[in-house]
Amino acid sequence: MSDTDRITSGEKLPDDAGEVSLRPQSLDDFTGQQANRENLKIFIAAARSRGEALDHVLLHGPPGLGKTTLAQIVAREMGVGFRATSGPVIQKSGDLAAILTNLQPHDVLFIDEIHRLQPAIEEILYPAMEDFQLDLIIGEGPGARTVRIDLPPFTLVGATTRAGLLATPLRDRFGIPLRLVFYTPDELTGIVIRLAEKLGMNLSYEGAQEIAKRSRGTPRVAGRLTRRVRDFFSGSTSPVTAAQADAALTRLDVDHKGLDAMDMRYLRRLAEHHGGGPVGVETLAAALAEARDTLEDVVEPFLIQEGLLLRTSRGRMLGEPGWRHLGLEVPRRGPDQLDLLSE
Ligand code: ADP
Repeated sequence: MSDTDRITSGEKLPDDAGEVSLRPQSLDDFTGQQANRENLKIFIAAARSRGEALDHVLLHGPPGLGKTTLAQIVAREMGVGFRATSGPVIQKSGDLAAILTNLQPHDVLFIDEIHRLQPAIEEILYPAMEDFQLDLIIGEGPGARTVRIDLPPFTLVGATTRAGLLATPLRDRFGIPLRLVFYTPDELTGIVIRLAEKLGMNLSYEGAQEIAKRSRGTPRVAGRLTRRVRDFFSGSTSPVTAAQADAALTRLDVDHKGLDAMDMRYLRRLAEHHGGGPVGVETLAAALAEARDTLEDVVEPFLIQEGLLLRTSRGRMLGEPGWRHLGLEVPRRGPDQLDLLSE
């Protein structure tokens, strides 16, 4: 099964097209990420009072946690325009130049998957971010010359699933780096309740809690599961109960922790073929026929957050909750493995 089939994937799927209209519109409307929200509020108020563009913002965290949503909110709260593109879409330096020269003063330029920008294009961004200048090379060969163009001051909001993949000079040019964290079940319950209201769905509080619990800390997954549960009970007039939500999600192969068949395959592989590890991520990726990036960006972060999986210097290991989740006995660790766990 590829990741694109997974109902619990934090990544955007074609089916999510309708989610756009349900995005929160302001920082106050945005649930969770409290520290990040408070920081953004302060920086936005300060930039507005000085009449300046907001400093560049780097949002990093697993897919589906609200990076695009926050970037749009930043533009709205600053009262400026919003332009969006993504790292892999910008193929030529001219593409980026066209975007940059069309910005209005203080606009927000959102670059999703900024870690996937080509190095040559990244180099154009450096002076643009630092001095609002663009160095364009006109012509080719010996006759080529550089033209420097002044850009309006703007705010670059970059989003990445892993800040570690960003070149240091690029990372250093973001004045406001923010790490998004997984949402708590309570925060997700609130998100599910609001979404159900917007969808005109009759859902009990306990039903919302059941969906939230199984959304792997990710609003995009919460949205998808809510829509699926709605589909199951679209004819029903009474509020969907926790037991009904549970039955629907179980039929969709999402277990009570939010783990799906892919997660279980991963954990089982680790337990049954590698004695719980440590084992390298490449080995696991090959065995599961998945891209290493997919495992690292989409599958592992939630498993690690829940303690089911441990990332050690010698590779991945199954955590105690992981053994228990598989219904297996937790093995007694040898002294060398205990060393690993204390790292
Ligand atoms: P990312 O860019 O990190 O992949 P998005 O910003 O596209 O994530 O968000 C994915 C979905 O989750 C969107 O439908 C968005 O409306 C919803 N969402 C994200 N964060 C929140 C939040 N804090 N409250 C309510 N809905 C949210």
